[in-house]
Parts: sequence; structure tokens; C-alpha cells
Amino acid sequence: MNILVLGAGQLARMMALAGAPLNLIVSAYDVRSGDIIHPLTLQPLGHGLNTAIAGADIITAEFEHIPADILHHCEQSGKLRPSAQAILTGGDRQIEKALLMQAGVANAPYRVVYTQADLEKAVDALGAPLVLKSTLDGYDGKGQWRYRDGDDLHALWAELDAFLTAPGQRDGQAIIAEAMIPFDREVSLIGVRGANGEFASYSLTQNHHHDGILTLSVVRPDEDALQTQAADMLEKIASALNYVGVLAVEFFDVDGSLLVNEIAPRVHNSGHWTQQGSACCQFENHLRAVSGLPLGPTELIQPTAMINVLGQGSVPLATYRDAHVHWYNKTPRPGRKVGHINVTATSNAELATKLASLASYLPDNAFHGLKSAALALA
Ligand code: ATP
Ligand code: MG
Ligand code: MG
Repeated sequence: MNILVLGAGQLARMMALAGAPLNLIVSAYDVRSGDIIHPLTLQPLGHGLNTAIAGADIITAEFEHIPADILHHCEQSGKLRPSAQAILTGGDRQIEKALLMQAGVANAPYRVVYTQADLEKAVDALGAPLVLKSTLDGYDGKGQWRYRDGDDLHALWAELDAFLTAPGQRDGQAIIAEAMIPFDREVSLIGVRGANGEFASYSLTQNHHHDGILTLSVVRPDEDALQTQAADMLEKIASALNYVGVLAVEFFDVDGSLLVNEIAPRVHNSGHWTQQGSACCQFENHLRAVSGLPLGPTELIQPTAMINVLGQGSVPLATYRDAHVHWYNKTPRPGRKVGHINVTATSNAELATKLASLASYLPDNAFHGLKSAALALA
């Protein structure tokens, strides 16, 4: 079966690797250039959306910031999974927040801001501090601002206004003002839903960020109460979207209660650990779900953590037997996600110790914040 992935980055690459043993042959479509690309070699295979659609049995996506006309065109072929609406929801925080309300899952109180008066009303209603996020095109913490008590609201509005009216800004761009949640930690859940409504989820993952970018994800298999909450919330969202495929949900843990931060209608960086931590990783399960195969097992087979490799061309890991390196065939640039390392262990305690030792060994200036995050777990 031929599967076309909209987007030609590392997620398409890892789907291609996971699909090969099942004869699920993945090609990637670069939505900017219109090129069809081999997801491993990055060599061009053809050009044009119609050619791409004609050659595919199933179409899916590796990211949510895809122009609506491309998604609708794909949907007309009857091959797109999940739906255009589900992908567009993940790519627009305004639609996403409305969905979270409709699905009845807890999330940060918010207001939509188009004008300075809206911003003033948001501060009146929600208080301070606030997190402000662009509704479109945000990722890795980009397109975000903070407002704290005593900050100059006029100066903030001037920045937001300049952003909203900048040349080339997309139609429909707006700002979501959200109450800043005083969370204890951030966790995420990767779930998968088949076309028949069959649903499964992996173990909850605790996530650590540096400068808005995910640096470390650690599986948390022993958090039954949170796992149940997260799975219940994810399933509600997936049902509301009549979702097919892998869906990721990021949460804030506030004293044992979860609030949804955001969703990603795709395989997710915080689920890369499933390559070593489960018998069927998120990439294979996404392909299984969208191509109508039965879902694979999502149970944890060994404690696992994932370290992102950002902007580094190599990692000195020859002596670490349980460090599984996954490169993305990308040219290193500062801060760019070029690979990840999955670390496995036989127990949670051993995993924490291994992470701390690895974090001390990896260069601080390339793995910012890793050492303190890993030491906090040990
Ligand atoms: P990603 O790369 O995960 O897609 P993103 O750019 O879409 O990120 P968010 O996940 O919404 O952005 O926010 C980035 C980070 O900012 C969060 O992981 C969290 O640490 C912080 N953050 C976002 N919203 C809030 C909030 N309402 N309260 C407190 N912290 C927040
Ligand atoms: Mg996001
Ligand atoms: Mg996020």
C-alpha cells in the first residue's frame, strides 16, 4: 500500500522506516515546494499535488500547519486520514480551544484577542500573568508572548499589533490570551484511534523543555490516576473529531489534575520513545490506523526516555550500549532537531541513573537544561 505523508521532515522519515516491514510504502509531499520526496534519501520522486494524490492509496500528515486548500483537495480524493477538519483544528488554536470546550475537557481559561480593547478585556477577565499565543503557525514556543502584573499593556499591544499586521501575515491570524497555569510539570499522552473507533494509548510521558523546545521525555508508567485521566480526556477529544490515526495531547499537571495545553493531530516528538519502549511504536500504529489495519500493542516493554539532539552533528555515545540513536539525515543548524537518543533500562530507578550519567557526559552547551532535568529525576 502506498501512503503519502503531507510534510517531508523527520516524522515522515520515521513513518517510512516503521512502515517498510508491513509493505506500507511512504512517500513525502513537501507542501511548500510541491515536490514528492523519498523520505529517507530526500531525493525528488515527482512533482505536483495531483500526481502525489494519484500515486497514493492513503494520505496523511506529519504536521498541522498545512494550507486548507491542500487539505481539502486531498480530502476530495477520499484518501485523507485524519480528516482535514481534524488537522486544521490542530493548526489553529482558536478552533482548537473551541473544540476542547465542546469536548468538555479542562483547559486554561482564555479569550480571543483582535484589538487592544480585547486585550484589556482579557486582562480584566483572566488577570495576570497571561500567556499570549498566535492562533496560527505556532510551534516550539514560537509566536508567544508573556504578560505579567505591572507590564506595560500598551507596549505589549504594539508588539502584537505589529505581528498581526506584518506583511505576509496569514488571513485569520489572531491571538489567544490564556491564563498562565502554575503547573507542577508537563506530561503528554500519545493515543491512537482506528476508523472503527478502536482506541489505545501509550504510557504517560513527562516532558522537559528548554527555551520552548522539548529536550527530554521520560515515560511514567506508574501514574495510574493520571494515566486514566489523560486517556479519558484524549479519547473524548478523539471522538469529538471522529479521529483516525495517532493523536498527541499535551497536559499541565496541577496537583494531580490535568488541564489540556494543546493537541497535535499526528505523531509527536514526546512519543519517539515508543520506538524502543513498545512493541509497536507510534509511527507504525499511525500507519496501521490510517490504512485500516488492526492497531498494534501499546504496552510499555521497558522503561525508556528520549533526549532530543538539537543542532549537533554527532554524539559521543560509543560506550553507551542502551542509548539508541536515531538520526534524521538533516544538516545541523543551531537549535534544529537533527536526531534523538532513546535510552532504555530495566527499571525506572535505573533509567533515572542512566539519564543522569548520560546527561553529565553529553556537552552542556549542546544539551541545554538536560543535566538539571535528568538529575531532578534521579
Ligand atoms: P510545541 O512545540 O509543543 O507544539 P507550541 O509552540 O505549540 O509548542 P505550547 O505547547 O502551547 O506551544 O507552549 C509552549 C510551552 O509554553 C508549554 O510547553 C509550556 O511550558 C508553556 N505554556 C504554554 N501555555 C501555557 C500556559 N497557559 N500556562 C503556563 N505555561 C504555558
Ligand atoms: Mg504546538
Ligand atoms: Mg506544545
